Amino acid sequence: MSIQVSHVDKWFGTYKALDDVTLEVPDGQLLALLGPSGSGKTTLLRTIAGFESPDAGDVRFDGADVTGQRVGERHVGFVFQHYALFRHMSVFENIAFGLRVKSRKDRPSKADIRDKVMELLKLVQLESFAARKPSELSGGQRQRVALARALAVEPKVLLLDEPFGALDAKVRQELRSWLRRLHDEIHVTSVFVTHDQEEALEVADTVVIMNQGRVEQIGSPFEVYEHPRTPFVYNFLGNVNLFHGRPISGESLQTEFGALNGRTNGPASVIGFVRPHELEVARVENGSSSMSAVVLQLLPAGPTARIKLELAENGAYVEAQVSQETYRELDLKIGEQVFVKPRKVRVFPEDYSI
Ligand code: ADP
Ligand code: MG
Repeated sequence: MSIQVSHVDKWFGTYKALDDVTLEVPDGQLLALLGPSGSGKTTLLRTIAGFESPDAGDVRFDGADVTGQRVGERHVGFVFQHYALFRHMSVFENIAFGLRVKSRKDRPSKADIRDKVMELLKLVQLESFAARKPSELSGGQRQRVALARALAVEPKVLLLDEPFGALDAKVRQELRSWLRRLHDEIHVTSVFVTHDQEEALEVADTVVIMNQGRVEQIGSPFEVYEHPRTPFVYNFLGNVNLFHGRPISGESLQTEFGALNGRTNGPASVIGFVRPHELEVARVENGSSSMSAVVLQLLPAGPTARIKLELAENGAYVEAQVSQETYRELDLKIGEQVFVKPRKVRVFPEDYSI
């Protein structure tokens, strides 16, 4: 079942929580809504579900307008950050609940319910936990039960609102790859809300980046990370060094680095964005965009090493990320003078807005 959201606005009093949101989730895809707290992710998810009705625009499932339909008519499954499992019921009964409360004509037989629940327990890898109470499970196991419970009624669409938000980092990481594998197995069209960029980039087929109720960019994880369309996306998807400058001619940018290529005609001032791993560190000057800096801090722990530096010209702090091999070759000391040079820079006008 595909989902189309077209030109949706949502107001809470005088506050515009969703501003002309348009997106599509193709059938069987897993789409992540990614953005900071307050950017409208939950409101958009609730609008897709039918808990909120939009003030403008529409929501379609497989092309059919569902904007006027109530939650119950839309056949959606949910998992929330704090999913209230029924505490007095076993894991088995929690998962069976949605099937047991169906009207008599739609309700599966007792044996069918049992088979379905056991199949779901297998899917979420909790087969031996059927008789336990929620209080006897870890946080991660509870969220897997919540997912099985959402899937029991065979929803057309699965909506997950920060499902791993309350869990610790290690468990989150495990569940993230687990969810991806599960989705590859069942292919139910899913929308996954998160404020964690790593989680979105790792789990989703498509990432929608939201900011202040608006869509900043839609693309594959690779597209949004490698080709951020706006300064906001650039900042949100990872560490970045900012270089302020002025355009000196149609095709170049005057910054602390000297002239850099970029789209610079028009604005009075521009900002160059450079990711830490795109900033080269060398002991000798290397071309006109190479600039002098002093080593402030060395952080070698981890898969790559980080080097914090202060630019000689204006005292700005920048960070470079290099391979362990390069780090060893450089053999830097704190306080030492070196040269930095961006391998790749993306330039935006200082006053950029979408
Ligand atoms: P997110 O999930 O991205 O953190 P939300 O969709 O929950 O963001 O909220 C977006 C904005 O809308 C926030 O500023 C929030 O305070 C506001 N908001 C959300 N729900 C309501 C509501 N029922 N009444 C008033 N304001 C709301
Ligand atoms: Mg939210």
